[in-house]
Amino acid sequence: MQEKKMKITFWGVRGSRPVPGKETVVYGGNTPCVTVKAGETLIILDAGTGICNLGNSLAETRKKVKAHIFITHTHWDHIQGFPFFTPAYLPDNEFYLYGQGKLDHTFSNLMRGQMIFPHFPVQIDKMKADIRLTEISTGERLEIEENLFISTIHNNHPGGCLSYRIDYGDKSCCYLTDTEHYSCIDAYLHELAAGADAIIYDSNFTDAEYEGTNEYNSKIGWGHSTWQEGIKLARAAGVSQLIFFHHATHRTDNELFQIEKEAKTIFKNCQAAAEGGSIVV
Ligand SMILES: [Zn+2]
Ligand SMILES: [Zn+2]
Repeated sequence: MQEKKMKITFWGVRGSRPVPGKETVVYGGNTPCVTVKAGETLIILDAGTGICNLGNSLAETRKKVKAHIFITHTHWDHIQGFPFFTPAYLPDNEFYLYGQGKLDHTFSNLMRGQMIFPHFPVQIDKMKADIRLTEISTGERLEIEENLFISTIHNNHPGGCLSYRIDYGDKSCCYLTDTEHYSCIDAYLHELAAGADAIIYDSNFTDAEYEGTNEYNSKIGWGHSTWQEGIKLARAAGVSQLIFFHHATHRTDNELFQIEKEAKTIFKNCQAAAEGGSIVV
């Protein structure tokens, strides 16, 4: 029997807002979008501005596109690219979007909201692909294709957010972004990430930036974590590979290179996510 593998590709790795410019050429300036290809199934995690280049790449193939799009939460940086996702404008394509409702807003209305007049000229229902929106919550486990499972758990983030674990055969990866650590390991993330082949972790800050030592103001309560906390979680949960993600807007290529270098001395199998890069688990 052929071994099941997943290919994880990074289309947008930056948090908060896009940061094009000469300091972000290597790791990229687009906001979150990651694809996981499991067999023939395409999973898209978040629809930040990184999804625009993904869309162009999918459109170039001129093949019918079917994908499951899981949104962690609807902060701008995670949905802003969707109105510019070319394949959603092409008939025959199918997109299944999943995410959480908030307060009295359904997930469907949250996704529609950013495209209502006069924010955007085209409403979501005018996009020609078959787009279906499904509300999900914390603690779910969905089988989206045979032997392909997605599990959810809630993050510590303002307004709420979901982390995802994808299991395909005996391979697994987790997308844990927009989450703030606690003084002890987050028990929910620990359980979700247990034994995963790879985790993609919110490493927006360094410990010094987070705690507000030296020249920084504290970022406690902002809803983001640090690369050092990513290492703690990866170790505690027995994770094989750690990928730093949701890089701060001010983080230069050189700083990310230095972070990677330092982090590897503590946890060997780690790297900072870079736009256009991919790994196979
Ligand atoms: Zn974010
Ligand atoms: Zn957020």
